[in-house]
Amino acid sequence: MKSKWNVTDYINLYQANHLLSKDNKAALGMVIPVKVYIQDPYASGTLEKQVLSEIQVAREPELMNGPTSSRIAVVDYDADLNVLAPAVIWNGKEGCFEISKQSGNVRLAEKHKDLWQFHQVNVWAIVQSILSMFETSFVLGRSAPWGFEGNRLIIVPHAGYMDNAFYDRHSKSIQLYYFGPENERIYTCLDHDIIAHETGHAILDGLRPYYLEDSSLQTTAFHEFIADITAVFSALRNNNLRQIMAEQTQGNIAKESVVANLAEGFSRYSTGKEYIRSALAKDTVDSVKDKFCPYEWSKVLTGAMWEILSRIVAKRKQILIKEGRGDSVYQLLWWAVMRFQRIIFQPLDFLPPADVQFSDYANAVLQADQVIYPDDKYQFREIMRDVFKQRGVYCEECCEDVESLNFYPYDIRRIMLSRTDAYHFINQNRRQLCIPANQDISVSELYQTDKTLPNGSKHPREIILQYTWREDVLLKGKQFGHLNGESASLLCGGTIVFDDRGNVLSWMRKPGCGKQETSRKRLRSHCKQEVEAGQKRKDDLLNYIKNRLDRGYFGFIDDDRFEIGKTIKPVCTSTRSDGTIRMEVRPNLRHWDDA
Ligand SMILES: [Zn+2]
Repeated sequence: MKSKWNVTDYINLYQANHLLSKDNKAALGMVIPVKVYIQDPYASGTLEKQVLSEIQVAREPELMNGPTSSRIAVVDYDADLNVLAPAVIWNGKEGCFEISKQSGNVRLAEKHKDLWQFHQVNVWAIVQSILSMFETSFVLGRSAPWGFEGNRLIIVPHAGYMDNAFYDRHSKSIQLYYFGPENERIYTCLDHDIIAHETGHAILDGLRPYYLEDSSLQTTAFHEFIADITAVFSALRNNNLRQIMAEQTQGNIAKESVVANLAEGFSRYSTGKEYIRSALAKDTVDSVKDKFCPYEWSKVLTGAMWEILSRIVAKRKQILIKEGRGDSVYQLLWWAVMRFQRIIFQPLDFLPPADVQFSDYANAVLQADQVIYPDDKYQFREIMRDVFKQRGVYCEECCEDVESLNFYPYDIRRIMLSRTDAYHFINQNRRQLCIPANQDISVSELYQTDKTLPNGSKHPREIILQYTWREDVLLKGKQFGHLNGESASLLCGGTIVFDDRGNVLSWMRKPGCGKQETSRKRLRSHCKQEVEAGQKRKDDLLNYIKNRLDRGYFGFIDDDRFEIGKTIKPVCTSTRSDGTIRMEVRPNLRHWDDA
């Protein structure tokens, strides 16, 4: 039946995608079954049969060889060898990719993991399914943009010889490397956790592009946290892995499991450690405060969110017993998936546009939950507050800021439809928002969401408006060495979340320290606090730059570096823009010093 559909039919069906059940989609040929490794085949040992699993990927009307879909293109170019491997062929009639038996190491080609065209399909299907997961109405409820011009993220499954992997915005690509002797190659493009980790970086970069500006250790660590938690969550969503996890943990997800540890096989072969990181990490802000390493810091948030989830699941278990319901461990874990994706990823919409700190995320988690469950019937937010506190992450459910805002009358319909109208709104309310009078502001993002609860009811539609401006920060004094006399850039701005009636649900911001002009008493004291917070941000930035310089984590790089295969150690890359220094993160899988 499926071969009778033409492109128009598929486009119509695609638009109705969210209305159809999984079974209906399969019956209509809207999904294609693809075999992938849902865990690292090098680590799984006896689990190998279970980790080679069939997942269903949306069948798009214009799929092509590569694979190439509307948002992703696999380009199998090995820069070390200067070889472009033949791309897997898409058979539109049969609705499948034809993996050539000649597409890899022929001697070993009987195994999936030695066929390069299998690698191409494996990596495409995993990235595609993670992107779809983020875009569903249970998570972001909108299409997730990429952080670069153009609409296709390039995936390079065999970028060259190295034991690492990167997301690189400038080449619009995820680059996955291989290492080890020729007859025992370890391919990172077969490691689900590594692929998912880099995809998490790419997706976050689209949602909050300024987070790649290296303004503080916590901002860089936040990128690593989202990348790691994407990998953990993507594994938890898989039916086979959840079944294995149910057997391993009996529903106590605070226990060691196949899901909680990251990139086990890769780690064993590259560093000799059991895994690169684990969601079971016990780290706190206090325990990592002397470590100048974003990977160490990221473990605080990853561990905190996994602990929150495990405590909420344990509480849910008790509630079910009390209510006389006998849900299986497997059902309980499915409930955890639905809860987890909302708690972890939906707060991203509330976050400020730049310089995110752990406490911003903790506040966003609480605020996003408050919007959906104002009564918090089972007091899950108490668990969240308690865990954040124990991990040393300051948080508050701050609605006072929102209540104190007293905007000039505005029409939310005009704001939501036009960036220029959104700009006028921000400009007219500069004093309320404590934006210095002389600063030129930009509307950096304007979008709406359409989210659903697991029971099918709708969230209030959210309209998200982000604005930014930059303030120059002079690097003065010999502590800045060769940068003495140059300027860096303090990125300031805010995110305002409205509901569709125009009520403000949240305002999270990064104040600056420029002069505010206001004659009203209440505003004067409010803006004074903001300027103080801005001054602290400026001092923190200066300190951070000095720390980087002291450790030698600083260097300018040439513009021709941004090509596939031309990789550099991502200690800290800097450029000059409009006369100021911009530090930039190039997210990879692990720290070079781990080796
Ligand atoms: Zn990373």
